[in-house]
Amino acid sequence: MAAVKTAVFLDRDGTIIVDKNYLKDLNDVELLPGAKDAISNLKSAKCMLFLFSNQSGVARGIITMDEVSKCNLRMMELLGHGPNVFDAICMAPESPDDIPVYRKPSPKFIVEMIAKFDLLKEHCYMAGDKASDVFAGINAQINAVLIATNEEAKTSFLESPESKNIKIFPSLFEFANWLLAEKEAMPPEAKK
Ligand SMILES: [Mg+2]
Repeated sequence: MAAVKTAVFLDRDGTIIVDKNYLKDLNDVELLPGAKDAISNLKSAKCMLFLFSNQSGVARGIITMDEVSKCNLRMMELLGHGPNVFDAICMAPESPDDIPVYRKPSPKFIVEMIAKFDLLKEHCYMAGDKASDVFAGINAQINAVLIATNEEAKTSFLESPESKNIKIFPSLFEFANWLLAEKEAMPPEAKK
């Protein structure tokens, strides 16, 4: 039996870095407390990491994909694991008015990565601060958690019936600790 890979799909704004609307200035890229340690701990445990972010500012003409990519590079510089810390990155450029392709809650990116890397859904997690993150995970039939850095988003999420079955963590750091403890509890053949 092949070793099982644990994969974590991470939202960017409000999950790893402070959510600043339509971030474009490199100087505004700011890690959330504990995010650096969370990523380090997940990397040490050999988790695959995917970055999955809605960037409607691109479709709206407020920011360019080049600016988004440069902010990603700055974030990765701050995380300290080099520019290949993520196994793949998806920046969904559509606006809410467009027909969604990759824009969360579309599960398309997650579904593609599961196929590409031969991942097991029960070992995949989507983590983000908005309902759309959680629903992307639910739509892909993987585990989904809410990183509650945004009180308003948390409150509106709690109004959805699906929220009853979803774990909520105050930070990415707390989620990573929980996940790694869960992994530790897996049977040996399921570990990697
Ligand atoms: Mg977010």
